[in-house]
Amino acid sequence: MKSEQSSLFDAVLAAHARYGTAEGGANASYIPFLAGVPSNLAAIAAMTVDGAICAAGDADYAFALESISKVCTLALAMEDVGPDAVREKIGVDPTGLPFNSVMALELHNGKPLSPLVNAGAMATVSLLRASNNEERWQRVLDMQSALAGSPVTLSDEVNKSEQATNFHNRAIAWLLSSADSMFCDPMDACDVYTRQCSTLVTTRQLASMAATLAAQGRSPVTGRQVLKCEHVPCVLAEMTMEGLYERSGDWAYTVGVPAKSGVGGGIMAVVPGVMGLAAFSPPLDDAGNSVRGQLMVADVAKALGLSLFDRR
Ligand code: GLU
Repeated sequence: MKSEQSSLFDAVLAAHARYGTAEGGANASYIPFLAGVPSNLAAIAAMTVDGAICAAGDADYAFALESISKVCTLALAMEDVGPDAVREKIGVDPTGLPFNSVMALELHNGKPLSPLVNAGAMATVSLLRASNNEERWQRVLDMQSALAGSPVTLSDEVNKSEQATNFHNRAIAWLLSSADSMFCDPMDACDVYTRQCSTLVTTRQLASMAATLAAQGRSPVTGRQVLKCEHVPCVLAEMTMEGLYERSGDWAYTVGVPAKSGVGGGIMAVVPGVMGLAAFSPPLDDAGNSVRGQLMVADVAKALGLSLFDRR
């Protein structure tokens, strides 16, 4: 195991050295806070299912979780209403369109198709069991912390920046409501969704979230069973379908591990039974995925032969 861990550490260091300064992409600019995050930041971390962690670069820098939060809320909805209800009410297919596409809704009679696009994520929030919106939010935040194995907190600054500019998402929430695909007050769902995107995590915490999914839902840090082990394959299937937006097929084809990115520059990847990987760097490709993050995770996956589709 010692040599396995040192080869993992070598692969993490090598990926950061190769791609931590790669050119290309631009910070998300439609959320004012994200536009101002230093573009040169870059980090990668890996946590094994035993809880061993290694990292390189700015792995303690806290950045906005953004779309990766959709995985946490999906995990919670699985616990609350079960995988069948998620499949029936939201859908579990890729949209093939951008994460905030209105056209994707129009094409499918208002059904979001995936919990990992904005429409589906807000509908997922609306499925959660809660007697009021603060309880709904607290449960979402608690799930983020439980998956990370350490406290995750809301950034007021990010949240204010997002709440002041989230008109497109509010419109999507009302469209969902008009199509009977919203199961609580649409503005409450949009509010909790916006807050869940505005929490801060470090790359180490993100690797720990991914490691919890790799360890069949049990946090390697706290030992707590955070979600039922039978729900994990459903979450990973969704990450494979839609985790990198309309580039998810390309990612499965070339890298072969379930992953989820966010416009804050984070990306997490899960190697079931083995490890969680995470990377962070703000510049994004035109689909919204971190350019350096993808390169670093793909490099480690290639070096260690992690593709799920290549079991030679
Ligand atoms: N808060 C962002 C939005 O709703 C998250 C998008 C993302 O990371 O894909 O647009």
